[in-house]
Amino acid sequence: MSERTVVHVIGAGLAGSEAAVAAARLGARVVLYEMRPRRMTPAHRTGNFAELVCSNSLGGEQPANAKGLLQAEMRRGRSVVMAAADEARVPAGGALAVDREQFSRRVTELVRSEPGIEFRNEEVTSLPATGIVVLATGPLTSDALARSLRTVIPEEHFLAYYDAAAPVVLGETINEEVVFRGGRFEQPDDYLNCPLTEEDYKRLHEAILQARKHVPHEWEHLEYFEGCIPIEELARRGYLTLKFGPLRPVGLRDPRTGEEPFAVVQLRAEDRAGRLWSLVGFQTGLKWPDQKVIVRTIPGLEGAEIVRYGVMHRNTYLNAPALLEPTLQLRCEPRVLVAGVLAGVEGYLESAATGWLAGVNAALLAQGRTPVVPPEVSMLGGIVRFLSTARADNFQPMNANWGLVPSIGGKGEKRARRARMYYRGVMAFEQWLAETLPELACAVADAALGGATDSEARS
Ligand SMILES: Cc1cc2nc3c(=O)[nH]c(=O)nc-3n(C[C@H](O)[C@H](O)[C@H](O)COP(=O)(O)OP(=O)(O)OC[C@H]3O[C@@H](n4cnc5c(N)ncnc54)[C@H](O)[C@@H]3O)c2cc1C
Repeated sequence: MSERTVVHVIGAGLAGSEAAVAAARLGARVVLYEMRPRRMTPAHRTGNFAELVCSNSLGGEQPANAKGLLQAEMRRGRSVVMAAADEARVPAGGALAVDREQFSRRVTELVRSEPGIEFRNEEVTSLPATGIVVLATGPLTSDALARSLRTVIPEEHFLAYYDAAAPVVLGETINEEVVFRGGRFEQPDDYLNCPLTEEDYKRLHEAILQARKHVPHEWEHLEYFEGCIPIEELARRGYLTLKFGPLRPVGLRDPRTGEEPFAVVQLRAEDRAGRLWSLVGFQTGLKWPDQKVIVRTIPGLEGAEIVRYGVMHRNTYLNAPALLEPTLQLRCEPRVLVAGVLAGVEGYLESAATGWLAGVNAALLAQGRTPVVPPEVSMLGGIVRFLSTARADNFQPMNANWGLVPSIGGKGEKRARRARMYYRGVMAFEQWLAETLPELACAVADAALGGATDSEARS
């Protein structure tokens, strides 16, 4: 095989792991580069592939959830991230949450054992001069590579925003006499809930406002990502912003009082044994001693030991609509494909899904075949079409959501219409896979469709 046909995948995160496996399974010769643990990013802690740097959730699973549709599509394309997630799953109500250690260890094993992938533990500092390249270096792309990419991509198309991670506390230090178990409304009891009275809430809000930020000056002009705003910014926006945001109590009743608390801090298990719990939606970049004070202000966490503090990072992404085709190829350099956060998506799942498509198209290009785009009614098809056609003058990273696929009109409850959109997307994706990429197609018995009645789903 000549050097020209090699697929170089740079970065073994969520996107790169998927890309490498998808390309190898289509018969490409793949070289996968990852710089960790030799050179770490400010957010990662291990050398494992697909490390989850903050929450351990890959999003809601139900047919009414846009991430649920993306998960269903990925399972059908033999996604390595979904395979590892299914094995490492921890209870989290209607969400697909995983034991983060087990998850990334399993992704590493699956990728390393895939024939056709050569792994190199090194930092890539410039684009490989030949072959097909999948750029999957994520929001924390190393400086040397980011500098060298500017020779191909104009400076004005490098964009950035803040992202933050939430603290994690040790389970045995949570006061079980204060917290109560329960999910919102009919969700299973997988969460621990710290109930706050208005007095508690006021104290917490005040403590957050008083706390010291840890933000270097050069970041101050940057924007937050609206889907992941730190608690200090929410608290600054208004007294009740947290109560109507991550601390909303709706659907949660404290069994001891029989009433809905004024506000609730939810904790989600990080591991199967329930030893580690993360504070849901509580991402923060405050100074660590101040985080400790704030966490211990929360009822039930007075003696909590924080095993991982919240951190904030400057995330780099590209102005996708100015640069990318829906195949994820760079318009100015079509042998280079971009995936993950760098390509302008937000979220673990979206990063993995775009990685899968970039890997597929890299393999097709290496074999002289035409790159493909999934159907527009599929969530992945909707995402990549959005990336390549959104407004380039104010482009923001995008999560999976129902606005990315054509809606189904007509009467009927929103949930039922979404179930129909889910079913339509799954069917279209399945058929497209069978026709264009039979090597990757995988039959899946879809338990999630059980959430919608047959008539809802099929009508
Ligand atoms: C602090 C923080 C918190 C986040 N929290 C969440 C969250 O809670 N939920 C969520 O869904 N998403 C979250 N995200 C956003 C996003 O989903 C994750 O960043 C996700 O990991 C992105 O996947 P990726 O494959 O694009 O990048 P990554 O998973 O970061 O993978 C990129 C890989 O490339 C490697 N790399 C970088 N430069 C080089 C180089 N030059 N040579 C070789 N290797 C290199 C890195 O070491 C890394 O392993 C968060 C992001 C950050 C930074």
